[in-house]
This record gives sequence, structure tokens and C-alpha cells, in this order.
Amino acid sequence: MALTERRRSLMSQPTQQRIVKTAIPGPESVRLQQRRNASVAAGFGVTLPVFVEEAGGGILVDVDGNHIIDLASGIGVTGVGASHPEVVARVSEQVEKFTHLGFVSTQYELAVQVAETLNRLTPGNFEKRTALYSTGAEAVENAVKIARTYTGRDAIVVLGHAYHGRSLLTMTMTAKNVPYKEGFGPFAPEIYRVPSPYPFRWAGNLDDVAQEAFDQLTDIITTQIGAHNVAAIVVEPIQGEGGFIVPPDGYLPKVVEFAKANGIVFVADEIQAGLGRTGDMFAVNHEGIIPDLITTAKALAGGLPLAAVTGRAEIMDAVPAGGLGGTYGGNPVACAAALAALEVIERDDLAGKARRIEEVMKPRLEAIAKWSKHIGEVRGRGAMLAVEFVKPGTKAASAEAAKTVAAYANSRGVLTLTAGTYGNVIRFLPPLVIGEDLLTDALDVLEAGIAELG
Ligand code: PMP
Repeated sequence: MALTERRRSLMSQPTQQRIVKTAIPGPESVRLQQRRNASVAAGFGVTLPVFVEEAGGGILVDVDGNHIIDLASGIGVTGVGASHPEVVARVSEQVEKFTHLGFVSTQYELAVQVAETLNRLTPGNFEKRTALYSTGAEAVENAVKIARTYTGRDAIVVLGHAYHGRSLLTMTMTAKNVPYKEGFGPFAPEIYRVPSPYPFRWAGNLDDVAQEAFDQLTDIITTQIGAHNVAAIVVEPIQGEGGFIVPPDGYLPKVVEFAKANGIVFVADEIQAGLGRTGDMFAVNHEGIIPDLITTAKALAGGLPLAAVTGRAEIMDAVPAGGLGGTYGGNPVACAAALAALEVIERDDLAGKARRIEEVMKPRLEAIAKWSKHIGEVRGRGAMLAVEFVKPGTKAASAEAAKTVAAYANSRGVLTLTAGTYGNVIRFLPPLVIGEDLLTDALDVLEAGIAELG
């Protein structure tokens, strides 16, 4: 049966089982890799150089017929799976009507429905507006533009270990130099960085991280910038690319309060952590904080490119008509996908599924950490979990251990991503719909890989 016919039946997914038929990458992938190297810019790295033919649930099927367990979700995108039948159905229906109009030339209800849904789902019982874009970086850039217009101020405060994108402004906001910034300067002005409350790497007492990091933030803002010059503080409520760093309880509420007291727009970048991933609809909900603006992307449209800024109406509406926009922002096919994905996330309680993934994975990872001298910390929330690798007996980062274990798992058909400023973190971002058998199988492989470290 042709792929599209199978999809139309709305029931077919690749067999939900890890099947290793060839070396990974197999001969067909290796052949395609040669063509890729001769045609695609070298600046695009790749974690696992296989070429995928079909994907769904918790499985990717490569061109050599290997069934690979997906612990990456396309970097936290396909929480509903890479081919959720309802996303497929709504997208198919929409492409037959029209693929694109340009929301700033003529309009369509789908974009309004997505805006209404995000206004409802995001925390805060006040009037909101949403602006739709295509990529996460674009959403973050626009949150900055909106905050600057609203406040009439320039300065933007970001955290150490932050990741906000690869455009000029968002790469400036991103902390890590190699590979994100090296050679790409000069950078955008008026971006200021404060230390990240990174418990595992905090010099002082663990109980004091929240207060000390907050004191450093206020000190830097007060003495180096002037709070009255700050337009926005932009924070990932769990830092993603930086290594799944969970701020200690109490830090974010203090920052929100400080922002409020000083007329600063507090922006939560929920592009990786939002929409069910951490076991709640938004990661900020864990501490009950209410951002002025929230950026979303990734999981928003079940795999299609869509991003958003959602927040207080008075802030969002500060930019006059014509000031915001873009050719593709709020593309109708992506909006159709988003309506399906958001419905699935809510109706099927994918946040609850993320909590279940944590219940299955975290105790296992913690048990491994007890015997492996190479693991410094297991952390994360919901289906956003990570293992930080160290040199045995120290806290010194071991990128080598993380790479070795990831390569071990990848070559055995378990796709895992690394992360972290020091490259020493393996992060897990499985689709929220993944079956528990697949998780257990993946954990067995990982455990064996960690055991091989000795
Ligand atoms: N913010 C965060 C927190 C992210 O994780 C990412 C992507 N990893 C971005 C922004 C940028 O999103 P995009 O790659 O869609 O531009």
C-alpha cells in the first residue's frame, strides 16, 4: 500500500518495536550521506546520520529498514508523534483548500482559532493576544520587539546557559559560543547576561541557590544596566540546550516579582518546555508564576513550523498595525496542524503522559546513577529528562562519556541527543505518546552503554 493510502486509514503506524537490521547507519543511509555531503552545507551537523523514511509513535524507520526508538521527538517537536493521524487528517484537509495566503494580506479563521486556544491555555486570567510566526527564534525576536515598544526601553536580560535561537538577536541572547556564535559576530547590542541558577554547578550551598542567583540578577541589573532601562527579562523555565537545568524552587517567582516591581516585561521562553512536555501544560505552572509574555513553537503544531508569542493584551497591542508580521507567520496548514495537536495534547492529557514517562524513566536513571561513577546528576521534569556526565570522583564535565553513551545507544537503534554548555549531558525528549515497552527497551540499551564506561 502506498504511504498516503496507509496514512488515510488513520490507524497505521510503524511497528512499535526496535528492530536493528543493519549497522546503523546502514548501507543505504551511508550512500545518501555521500550525496548529502556533496550537496548540503557542511554547517548542518547531525546526531545520527541515518535517513528516515517513515516515523510515528515512538519509532523512526530508516531507509535500511531499521526501527529506531525516538528519544528526541525532532528536538521536542513531535510530542504527539511524528505522524499523529489527527494532525495528518487536518493538514491533508487544509492543503486541499489552500496552502497559503499570508495572514497580513487576507485572513482565515484557523489563525484566530489558534490564537484563541493559546490565549486560553497559557497561564493568566487576563485579556491576551497572540502573534503567530514560523520558528522559535522568530517568536523570541518578536517578544523582544514587543517588550521594547511597550516599555520604550532597550536592555534585554538573559541567563547563562540560555538558548533562544540562531538568528542574530537570538544567537546573541544564547549563551554558548561554539557552535552557535563562533565566527558570527558582531552581535546585537543591549543584551545582558546574569548567572543561571544551575544547582549542580553552583559554588555555594544548595539551599541558597535561588536567593544567591536572584541577588546576582538584581545586583547586575541595578549596578550595570539600571532597572529602568530594562525592557524584558527572558528566561527558559527549564533551560533546554543548556542541559535541562531546572531552576531551584523560588527563583522564578522572585524574578517575576522583581520584573513587576520595575515595569520590566517577564518573558517565559517555553519553546522547548511548553505544551505538556514537563508534565504540565507550561513549565511555569509548576511554580504558579504568570509571565507577561510566553513564546511557544516546537510542539505547537505537531511537526509543522509554527511559533507564537502570547501575552497580556496591553503589551502585545503596543505595536501598531504593520509593525509585526511576516510572509509565513501563522501559515494555514501549520495552523490546522496546531489545532489538531493542541486538541490531542489537551484531550489525551499528554501532560499526564509526560508525568508517567518521568515515573518510568527517572527512577531507572537514578538507580544507574547510584552505581555509575560517570553520572553527576539526573534531573528534569516530565518527559524532559537528562543525565549529566562527569569525570569519576569529580564534578568536571565529561563530554566524552556523554558522547560515548549516546553513540552506543544510537548505533543500537536508540536515538538520543546530547546537550549542555559543556556537551556532557544526554537529554531525553521522547514523544509523549511513546509506549512504555519502548522506553524500557531504550533504558536497557542506555544502561548497557553506561556500564561499558566501566
Ligand atoms: N528557544 C528555545 C528554548 C529553544 O529550545 C529553541 C530551539 N531549540 C529556540 C528558542 C529556537 O527555536 P527555533 O529553532 O525554532 O528557531
